[in-house]
Amino acid sequence: MAECGCGNKDGGAGGPFSKGKELVEFVYNAHDGSVRDQPISQGAIAIECQGCKASFTLETYLGKCPECGGVHAVAPMNPVADNVQFAGVDFTLPQ
Ligand SMILES: [Zn+2]
Repeated sequence: MAECGCGNKDGGAGGPFSKGKELVEFVYNAHDGSVRDQPISQGAIAIECQGCKASFTLETYLGKCPECGGVHAVAPMNPVADNVQFAGVDFTLPQ
């Protein structure tokens, strides 16, 4: 197992074991934002959008559904389909 070392010490309630929007925000901010655009080390994950139910492939730790733009993320420590979290239909990433 590769150790990410993210821990849960950077303030805020989010952490690698958060759910939903908190997990998405954690991944978004992890390592000063350097994690979210990286390809998932174990390989892309085929998922179903938790917003619109479209099938798509999550290739990076944080990704958007191509159909509805719903933001999904997975913790780098355990990037498997069961751990993919959906930020919710009203969530948009800070730009
Ligand atoms: Zn969708």
